[in-house]
Amino acid sequence: MNPASHGRTTVGVIGAGLSGLVAAHELAKHGFLVTVFDKSRGVGGRMATRRAEPETSFDHGAQYFTARDPLFETRVNQWVDEGLVAKWPDAAKQQRFVVLKDGLIQRESRSLPRFVGTPAMNSVCKFLAVGLEVKKQTRIDRLVQVAGQVELLDEDGMTIDKFDRVVVSTPAEQTAELLVDSPDLKERITPVSMSPCWAMMVTFDEPLTDQWVGAFLHESILSWTARNSTKPGRNSHCEQIVVHATPEWTETHWESPSEVVTEKMLQEFWRVTGIQPRRPIAVQGHRWKYAIAGDPLLDRYLESEHGRILVCGDWVCGSRVEGAFLSGWATAQKLSQP
Ligand SMILES: Cc1cc2nc3c(=O)[nH]c(=O)nc-3n(C[C@H](O)[C@H](O)[C@H](O)COP(=O)(O)OP(=O)(O)OC[C@H]3O[C@@H](n4cnc5c(N)ncnc54)[C@H](O)[C@@H]3O)c2cc1C
Repeated sequence: MNPASHGRTTVGVIGAGLSGLVAAHELAKHGFLVTVFDKSRGVGGRMATRRAEPETSFDHGAQYFTARDPLFETRVNQWVDEGLVAKWPDAAKQQRFVVLKDGLIQRESRSLPRFVGTPAMNSVCKFLAVGLEVKKQTRIDRLVQVAGQVELLDEDGMTIDKFDRVVVSTPAEQTAELLVDSPDLKERITPVSMSPCWAMMVTFDEPLTDQWVGAFLHESILSWTARNSTKPGRNSHCEQIVVHATPEWTETHWESPSEVVTEKMLQEFWRVTGIQPRRPIAVQGHRWKYAIAGDPLLDRYLESEHGRILVCGDWVCGSRVEGAFLSGWATAQKLSQP
């Protein structure tokens, strides 16, 4: 037990994405002494928001989420009441998603409500992080167990901190790297692989269309596009478009320079949407190495033999934002059991 903890169980949470922050938030409510570590400069993980000029931002990771599980549905409704999330598309504003193929618009058939964070996708994560000790820009390289505790090591093998319990909430491949000394857990993780995604963020000075706010792209190297500026609470004085490439195309262009990739993606965007090409104000690319779990586990969390390390994340629980929430929540409940 850490002498500074005054008898309270200490928990280190690796990863400040949704799953890690839900776990940390719930554990802190249950009286645990929680410290969160993330290698990035901000919180949110793949529910990311990228700032851009002029005074705009892009959701370049998760685009929207759905709620099927009653527990998540209830929490999403609370977030709606608190102004942290809102429905998008908003039918009252005649907003809709479509399917686009060779420039032709087809109706999109799914009818489940979709939600986004407001004023940005990372709003829920920022909210959950309030009051938590979050050590940003701190990459954990490896976990080792020493005398009934779990030590967090950096890339030089130096101890960053140690805890009674550790929750790992990083994508599958990164989790496997952290757990080289826990073969029982590593075995469960190895079959899961996560697909990559090239994302493009483009700004125009006027709207490109009023036909759709989001589109699933068929028979294309691109899979999805969103008019980010139509999401609730965004600064909508210019048109901001997010485009995602398919995992297959991303893999074959992983090492290509960003300018080359975004130029190809932009040309294909005009073709598949059928919109008349025009000059953008700004274009940026971003590579997501671990975007979506192709073959996620259908658990809630994984636990080491001795119970001191728990693993959560979207890929443990069916993937996506909903899976990340349910996994983080279940992990905290498990640790809170007497
Ligand atoms: C391009 C893209 C599109 C998506 N679209 C959708 C969508 O439309 N709908 C949907 O529901 N979901 C979507 N997703 C998936 C969704 O974003 C994830 O399911 C969810 O955000 C995962 O949350 P998480 O907490 O499990 O993991 P993450 O958000 O990945 O959090 C893990 C955190 O761990 C940190 N980390 C990793 N390694 C270390 C280390 N060694 N040391 C310290 N910190 C570390 C990372 O920086 C990160 O912040 C999309 C994802 C991407 C990338």
